[in-house]
Amino acid sequence: MLLENKQVAIIGAGPGGLTLAKLLQLEGVSVKVYERDLNRTARTQGGTLDLHWESGLKALEKAGLMDAFKSNYRAGNDRLRIIDKNATIVFDEHQETSAANFGDEWFRPEIDRGPLRDILLDALLPDTVVWDSHVLSIEKITETWKIVFQNGNTIVADIVIGADGANSKIRHMVTDILPFYSGVTILEKNIYDAKNSAPKIYDLLKGGKIMSFGESKTITMSAKGDGSIDLYMGFKAEEGWIANSGIDFKSDQVLDWFKKEYNGWDDIWLELFENKQTSFTPRPMYCMPLDQCWEAQSNITLIGDAAHLMPPYAGEGVNMAMLDALELSKSLTSEKSKDLKYAFAHYEKQMFKRFAITGRETLDNTYWMHSVDGLKKMLALFS
Ligand SMILES: Cc1cc2nc3c(=O)[nH]c(=O)nc-3n(C[C@H](O)[C@H](O)[C@H](O)COP(=O)(O)OP(=O)(O)OC[C@H]3O[C@@H](n4cnc5c(N)ncnc54)[C@H](O)[C@@H]3O)c2cc1C
Repeated sequence: MLLENKQVAIIGAGPGGLTLAKLLQLEGVSVKVYERDLNRTARTQGGTLDLHWESGLKALEKAGLMDAFKSNYRAGNDRLRIIDKNATIVFDEHQETSAANFGDEWFRPEIDRGPLRDILLDALLPDTVVWDSHVLSIEKITETWKIVFQNGNTIVADIVIGADGANSKIRHMVTDILPFYSGVTILEKNIYDAKNSAPKIYDLLKGGKIMSFGESKTITMSAKGDGSIDLYMGFKAEEGWIANSGIDFKSDQVLDWFKKEYNGWDDIWLELFENKQTSFTPRPMYCMPLDQCWEAQSNITLIGDAAHLMPPYAGEGVNMAMLDALELSKSLTSEKSKDLKYAFAHYEKQMFKRFAITGRETLDNTYWMHSVDGLKKMLALFS
């Protein structure tokens, strides 16, 4: 096997990196995952994710983790309500009886990020993940990679897989291609104890998902298993708006901004600002160029957001990260791969092709959802 006696270092214990580690371990590969979080509970994981049968679920199936997934997914959490700015429900999946189930193309079961991460972590050999390993730099030394971490540690690895997300510290060793700004910025927040802190919204959400549209703006929410709501508001803004706006996102200035920008929206939305336990995180939405490609190397590549960052408006990010893991693990362990450069090139070719399609769909969604016809177009899609 091509990876025999090779030390494989995966950077980043997100869904992509952990899925890859599991799939490689099943093939007997020696692998470590280096993660900047101090430990597995150091950070609250974000909102819910819907996994798709042809990508995320396929990778879990191959990893032998479907039973664990079925015990942890949140039945009914995929039910969507589309709501206008006046908080009127204009489309409601809670009214429908869905016969969809595992194996159906359109069944997209939801799972919170925390439980998904736990399933993957629990499936790995002990001490696979090396916590508190924030990569500061990477350097090529002959045919190996020297990686320096913030905690002072250094490692040397034969093979490096950058699975370290949007601001990858590995990507520049693979390509100089930079992401571009999509024109949409989001403000994200987790609302704890939603039943008490945002009761009207909590009832409206009904344990599922909400997408609200109005005047080129969106509000997206999903209920999480811990009783909290993951919320993000999307709107068109110039690049650099976060700094230029002068808003202190940890203060009530965000509420002042909302009242002005979402002027005319129903008062129910103000509940989103009442719980002060957490503040908003502003995130400009970047995307990698859809036609990106590079020449494969023989000992390094990228998966997930590090490879093909895109906005969240097609729900493909995590699914593509997990499918990358599946395709890369297959390519690296296949008898047909004549050498490592061939194996990486084969994986990257598939990944570029897929991203050209899903990235296009994602960008198209991002644009029309934040257009004046956003609500109309969303309803047309569901009808
Ligand atoms: C608001 C929002 C909503 C989203 N909603 C959805 C959705 O509904 N469905 C969907 O499919 N996708 C969604 N996405 C996208 C999705 O989150 C990503 O596509 C997915 O998490 C990518 O997985 P990954 O493993 O590549 O990277 P990540 O999940 O970003 O994981 C990267 C890991 O690397 C670690 N890391 C980062 N830098 C370093 C470093 N220097 N050293 C060591 N470790 C490092 C991080 O701590 C993290 O654990 C959303 C994104 C956002 C911002």
